[in-house]
Amino acid sequence: MSRKLSFIPPIPDYAYIRNQMEGDLQYRLEDRVRKTSLGRPLYERINVQLIMTQECPYHCPFCLERKNPMVGIIDKEAQKNALMAVLKEHPNARLTITGGEPSLYPEHVKDLVTLFQERSHHVFVAINTAGYNPVIHDLAHINLSINEHVKPDPALFPGCTYQTVLTEEEMTLENIKRIMSSNPAAGSFSFRFLSGLEKHDYDVSIWNALENDDEIQVSTFRIGDFFVYATFDWNGKHARITLGDMYQQRQNDYQDGYSNIIIHPDGKVGVNWQ
Ligand code: SF4
Repeated sequence: MSRKLSFIPPIPDYAYIRNQMEGDLQYRLEDRVRKTSLGRPLYERINVQLIMTQECPYHCPFCLERKNPMVGIIDKEAQKNALMAVLKEHPNARLTITGGEPSLYPEHVKDLVTLFQERSHHVFVAINTAGYNPVIHDLAHINLSINEHVKPDPALFPGCTYQTVLTEEEMTLENIKRIMSSNPAAGSFSFRFLSGLEKHDYDVSIWNALENDDEIQVSTFRIGDFFVYATFDWNGKHARITLGDMYQQRQNDYQDGYSNIIIHPDGKVGVNWQ
């Protein structure tokens, strides 16, 4: 399923999704020929994740960033140089500045966003923050991380996306609608499955529930090389549900292909979450 759909087909089980992920990777490896210094990009608008810092004042027990390797301490000049080099080969990139907590260094966030605006086609730039320092609210689109351990106020980040991680047991329409209706200050919502390096089976009922709910209008559904997402509207608000399957990504044989770029805190550039 290497294209976006405007509906969600019936999903029998997670093996179906995994099968589609493998098919998507094979399709891209056979189809993509352009080469860069990093290999063959498998997506035109490649996602660049700039992990600005490992530092974070919070301590969420499920923190994926802390569980997975991030290289080195923050080196601002090396990050800027790495971003410039990446954008030269990927002017259509989408950039996410993340951490740790980027708003610990608001001036550096501003520099990175300015650099992105000047050195690329400025497709899209977002900042993942747990809301530590609201001064960054107007630098780029804000994905505001909220959970029971971190509770920033969406009203301090006008137009932000309320982003939260849910276990598969919590990933129900009832819960999603409850969160959406009780946070009117958020511009949109992003619900992410709690993933893990070892977890390789997921409940698929949310996808079928989305398609079958009369109050919900599904806009897009897509299964990529290691992810599945749907976007939809409910009650006048836009939302997205995403599952990034880290186990699948590690299983994938990317050969010389890559589906995302990581810039680590010390400026090291990696691909496929390496
Ligand atoms: S706020 Fe984000 S980076 Fe900080 S501990 Fe929580 S999940 Fe990790």
